Amino acid sequence: GATIQLDGLTKRYPGTANPAVDNVSMEIKAGETVILVGPSGCGKSTTLKMINRLIEPSSGRIRINDEDVTDMDPVKLRRQIGYAIQSSGLFPHMTVGENIALVPKMVGWSKSKVKDRVEEMLDLVGLDPREFHGRYPRQLSGGQQQRVGVARALAADPPVLLMDEPFGAVDPITRDHLQDELIRLQHELHKTIVFVTHDFDEAIKLGDRIAILRERSHIAQFDTPEAILTN
Ligand code: ADP
Ligand code: ADP
Repeated sequence: GATIQLDGLTKRYPGTANPAVDNVSMEIKAGETVILVGPSGCGKSTTLKMINRLIEPSSGRIRINDEDVTDMDPVKLRRQIGYAIQSSGLFPHMTVGENIALVPKMVGWSKSKVKDRVEEMLDLVGLDPREFHGRYPRQLSGGQQQRVGVARALAADPPVLLMDEPFGAVDPITRDHLQDELIRLQHELHKTIVFVTHDFDEAIKLGDRIAILRERSHIAQFDTPEAILTN
């Protein structure tokens, strides 16, 4: 696992009156799953995007294992962080197999290891590799695209997973299966997971701790599911 530290993290988008994320500090322990819940627009996605360095903070610091994300070289960053988003974010001009292979290739895995890994990941998310490997994202349902997005996030076996409503479009039975797989990854592989959801049951099921956010990602409560349920 890896620890994630946010110190005074702030994001102001140009031309907006208020910061989207305002002075957020949080420590996520190695191997811990933290769920971010809060109203639409409170800055959850912005926070994940900053951790993944897709957007730059206006101020504040992000450290993974005490190393500033800003200073990390791009290949190392990709090796550390897997990222799955609601819209799947698949590259439309690449097949399912190519999408999943992208990060493992980038971080230098051998061809044969990548090939095996793509099959393993498709199996994990419940898609038959023979049927889905060569398809393009547009040839998949929304739920199937999300599952490929999750497979891609896990492919290079990163210690950190950032997941932004990754199961939102997945059917209930598959979602249950994917939640169980995620719990297995927590327990067996000690992944550090930051997971955004609107689904309170999902938060309770998956979270070691739940951060309830208000506007601008102000932390209203940050505690275990048990403590949150009894408050
Ligand atoms: P959440 O993920 O909690 O729904 P977001 O992080 O997507 O919230 O958005 C937080 C706030 O930042 C919202 O008010 C949103 O409108 C604003 N925002 C998000 N992206 C941009 C952008 N690229 N430019 C300007 N404002 C943005
Ligand atoms: P949306 O607005 O639909 O939530 P985003 O703006 O969050 O989509 O998209 C984030 C960007 O990150 C997209 O360009 C997507 O292709 C890219 N992306 C998605 N997954 C990864 C990944 N694992 N590594 C690097 N970039 C990614």
